[in-house]
Amino acid sequence: MTETRSTCPYCGVGCGVIIESDGSQITGVRGDPDHPANFGRLCTKGSTLHLTASAPVTMATRLLQPMQRLARGTAAQPMAWDAAVALAAARIADTVRTHGPDSVGIYLSGQMLTEDYYVFNKLGKGLLGTNNVDTNSRLCMSSAVAGYKRTLGADAPPCSYEDLAHADTVFITGSNAAWAHPILFRRLEDAKRAKPDQRWIVVDVRRTETADCADLFLQIQPGTDVALVHGMLHVMLWEGLTDARYIAAHTSGFEALRDAVRAWTPKEAARVCGIREEDLIQAARWFAQNDRAGGATLSLYCQGLNQSSAGTDKNAALINLHLATGQIGKAGAGPFSLTGQPNAMGGREVGGLANLLSAHRDLANPAHRAEVAALWGVADVPATPGKSAVEMFQAAADGAIKALWIVCTNPAQSLPDQAMVRRALERCEFVIVQEAFSTTATAAYADLLLPASTWGEKTGSVTNSERRISLVRPAVPAPGESRADWQIGVDIARRIEALLPERLNGQSTLFPYADAESVWLEHRESTRGRDLDITGLSWPMLDAAGPQQWPLPEGQAQGKARLYEDGIFPTADGRAQFSAMTYRAVAEPRDARYPFALTTGRLRDQWHGMSRTGTLGRLFGHIAEPVVELHPTDIARRGFKDGELVEVRSRRGSIVLAVQASTTVAPTQASIPMHWGEEVLGGVDAQGEPRLGINGLTIPAFCPSSKQPELKHSAVRIEPAALP
Ligand code: SF4
Repeated sequence: MTETRSTCPYCGVGCGVIIESDGSQITGVRGDPDHPANFGRLCTKGSTLHLTASAPVTMATRLLQPMQRLARGTAAQPMAWDAAVALAAARIADTVRTHGPDSVGIYLSGQMLTEDYYVFNKLGKGLLGTNNVDTNSRLCMSSAVAGYKRTLGADAPPCSYEDLAHADTVFITGSNAAWAHPILFRRLEDAKRAKPDQRWIVVDVRRTETADCADLFLQIQPGTDVALVHGMLHVMLWEGLTDARYIAAHTSGFEALRDAVRAWTPKEAARVCGIREEDLIQAARWFAQNDRAGGATLSLYCQGLNQSSAGTDKNAALINLHLATGQIGKAGAGPFSLTGQPNAMGGREVGGLANLLSAHRDLANPAHRAEVAALWGVADVPATPGKSAVEMFQAAADGAIKALWIVCTNPAQSLPDQAMVRRALERCEFVIVQEAFSTTATAAYADLLLPASTWGEKTGSVTNSERRISLVRPAVPAPGESRADWQIGVDIARRIEALLPERLNGQSTLFPYADAESVWLEHRESTRGRDLDITGLSWPMLDAAGPQQWPLPEGQAQGKARLYEDGIFPTADGRAQFSAMTYRAVAEPRDARYPFALTTGRLRDQWHGMSRTGTLGRLFGHIAEPVVELHPTDIARRGFKDGELVEVRSRRGSIVLAVQASTTVAPTQASIPMHWGEEVLGGVDAQGEPRLGINGLTIPAFCPSSKQPELKHSAVRIEPAALP
């Protein structure tokens, strides 16, 4: 038996694992006691990784060789790798030649390793000359990126997990960490045990398991986060709880914010949020540490803030509170966004979003484009803005994007407005799906399927929520003919180079990589002098000393646990910038025809579209099937019986599932888990329209700044299901 140190492939906590294998199969997994994210602990998903990795039921779903589908709706046929690479390159190059670079879209995933992300970003923006490179991380954390940049000047979470133990008040908003980030939540419980007077304020539209542990729970109306935070700042100003010294020394723009919150009296904010005024006032006092001189406040937040048509405003409004109270840059304090996916952070670092470039550079900045062009040796990086996730599929549905290359993600389940997404996939002239699993809904639309290796089989690196870089190591050979994602990208890119040599700018290749580490070394060089500088880091150092946080510039022995301790921010004047936003309600308010507010969320034991977790029976022991939760008063008012099948319908589609009475949701609200697609929630409605899973209902409206869609709120109606 051999043991291999690696990292869990599920959530952004980024726990270290030790994989046991017999050389051909993964036989066991346990937590790595030396990994600073988890110190040996694993949650139910992580501790069952070995049961989902090599199990026959999982292997039966693996894509093991390249496959070509000669006509849509027919079975895909096996083909040789060389022919598949040639076909992919020829079709991409032909599309660029015929319709221009922006007729191609590349859609990536927060499951990919940093090296994978780097190659595909360079392939799109460097070789093809299109910025249509985006990722499913757009759906999970792009509002956090935009919020940090707008206020603090850089996309850098300033805190560490060790801050959980130092905090006096923990403000958890839009996050059910107990289920979505279980090991982080265990650490938080430890902190409270060790420090019984630590206070937890939880803000959520649902009374979650996290909310059940709160000292103060604010069950707000959907989308009202900015109203809540503005109301809290109003209270702080009225009661003299802001930190005037910090505001004067380290920030700018406070006057405009003070004007913006003037009308948000606690009474008005509480009315809009649907909570008690005294609870809002209490939250403001605890956040500002009114009774604890020198106390520290830490905010933890996730999709409840991010997946919103006002996502950037929500993030920035919360950061306003930290700046106004000086709760940043010290132990136990700061706005700490939690990443959903295992390498959403790594994707941000290499610029794997349509509006970003390598090492936190901005596509809109001409100097940044020139720096990246010089680094890559290309003549230029185009200035034309790339299309974000929803925009990319809308463009494909409209016929503007002709070829899509989808890597390690399942947009035919996870993007909002599935009817639009399916139109896009059907209309697109050439769809490449690069995947480990052959059974995803998106794979059914592929003209070319490319088999990718996955967790336990790959080499590379990931970055977790606290900016900590960990290595990912292979324990077993990749099955069949599957290859690493970065390698597939390089193989096809080199073939494209022969067809589009004008982008090479005289070089023999833009992709001279022998292995994943050589990709990482180029990424490392791109960070020199940037806020995330890792020029002092190496893979041998990660091997010897374990995972490290960035920044870690040359000459330093270790990374930084906490940012902005000196009160200097990476802005033009070194000051953090308050953001004076106006509260905006949800994009699609409830009305008489669609009277329920639908929210979607994660279950404790499932991951995304369940390609991996869905193959293990024991992970259904917690919750076996999807239901729509309604408050008991709504169940009674509608005359439903618990367990009865109902039709949930939005303006975009419908699904049928059982209704369940639950006091976790407020009256007029409904909640459905995000994990099930059309394989369970499919079929056709009475008009013959297809039912396309939970995201057949959700709305494609997105935040104008972050382009993150509002997956947390759609208006729906719920009626007894008319079954044949
Ligand atoms: Fe994996 Fe997240 Fe669970 Fe840790 S908390 S074991 S990273 S799923």
